[in-house]
Amino acid sequence: MSDCLFCRIIRKEIPASIVYEDDRLLAFNDINPQAPLHALVIPKRHIDSLNALTAEDDGLVGEMIRRAAAIARDKGFGDRGFRSVFNTNAEAGQTVFHIHLHLLAGRGFTWPPG
Ligand code: AMP
Ligand code: ZN
Repeated sequence: MSDCLFCRIIRKEIPASIVYEDDRLLAFNDINPQAPLHALVIPKRHIDSLNALTAEDDGLVGEMIRRAAAIARDKGFGDRGFRSVFNTNAEAGQTVFHIHLHLLAGRGFTWPPG
C-alpha cells in the first residue's frame, strides 16, 4: 500500500501534526478539522476499512478506541464528551481507504448525524 496517503504519513513521507505514536498506532490532527479537537487514530498496519477487519484485529481496534478516549481525556474532554466515528465506504463519506477513527471534541454535536 505504498501509495496510500495514511501509510505515507506513517512513513513520515508526508508531514502531519502527530498527537500520539507507538509501535502499532498513530494519531494526528485532521488537516480539515470539524471541531476544536479533530484527530484521526490509525493502525500502522494498512487495513482498508471496517469491512476488511478479521477477528485477529479485535485487539488492535480495541487499542484504537481506548487511545481515542485517552487523547480526549488528556486534552480535557473526557467529562464534557467527545464523538468517535468510523466512516465506511461511499454513503458514509469515507474518502481515505486506510481505516481511521475520527475523534472530535470541543463543541456540541447533533444526533442524528448529517
Ligand atoms: P474520511 O472522509 O472518513 O475518509 O476521513 C478522511 C479524513 O482525512 C478527512 O477528515 C480529511 O480531512 C483527512 N485528511 C486528508 N488528508 C489529510 C492529511 N494529509 N493530513 C491529515 N488529515 C487528512
Ligand atoms: Zn494505508
